[in-house]
Amino acid sequence: MEFIDPRLTEYCENHTTEESDLLKKINRDTNAEVLMPRMISGHIQGAFLSFISNMIQPKRILEIGTYTGYSAICLATGLSEKGKIITIDINAELQERVQTYFDAAENGNKIDYRIGNAIEIIPELNEVFDLVFIDADKENYSNYYQLIFDKVKKGGFILADNVLWSGKVIAQGSKIDKDTKAILDFNLMVHQDIRVKNILLPIRDGILIVQKI
Ligand code: SAH
Ligand code: CA
Repeated sequence: MEFIDPRLTEYCENHTTEESDLLKKINRDTNAEVLMPRMISGHIQGAFLSFISNMIQPKRILEIGTYTGYSAICLATGLSEKGKIITIDINAELQERVQTYFDAAENGNKIDYRIGNAIEIIPELNEVFDLVFIDADKENYSNYYQLIFDKVKKGGFILADNVLWSGKVIAQGSKIDKDTKAILDFNLMVHQDIRVKNILLPIRDGILIVQKI
């Protein structure tokens, strides 16, 4: 489901800083050669993530769900001098491809790419994060939130992608499948969490921005 007129999306893209040559290549390759290319962040969302990161200038970022590395490269642009982004993905088949992208990226040396199940890897991380981007399997969104919460510093940010789930969050009855239910539960849990402030933005497939207060 498109939330806004595709011509408006195109207009927005035409008035948003261009993608770098590397991001263009990742976008092209992903669409031509990788399964489920619609999962990639793309131009507008990538620029948005890059802006958020540049505004926060984080020392530590955690990304859950690397896919082809597009969002990790965008997020890495805002890292401070000694900053680092840890990005986790369970899909080892994409590892070689994605590593070549990270090797070619300007801040690629700041990207710590881990292959494995985020549910198992996160508890082993001994870091305090300024920014976390949740973008892996939807059924674990609430688990990821709980696993990372104590590792996010006070005043730090958590972003969650696809929280409108193609519009299915307003579906009724039998149309509510397992993933939709997981997203609904996650959005409600965050909204009711008195430890945070939150804003749900209808950018692309919905991005929830959470600040730990
Ligand atoms: N952040 C990327 C898109 C991520 S797509 C971008 O914006 O371009 C979601 C990814 O989550 C997929 O690559 C999938 O392999 C990964 N994933 C799914 N379950 C996972 C798990 N349990 N642990 C780590 N990664 C997982
Ligand atoms: Ca996503």
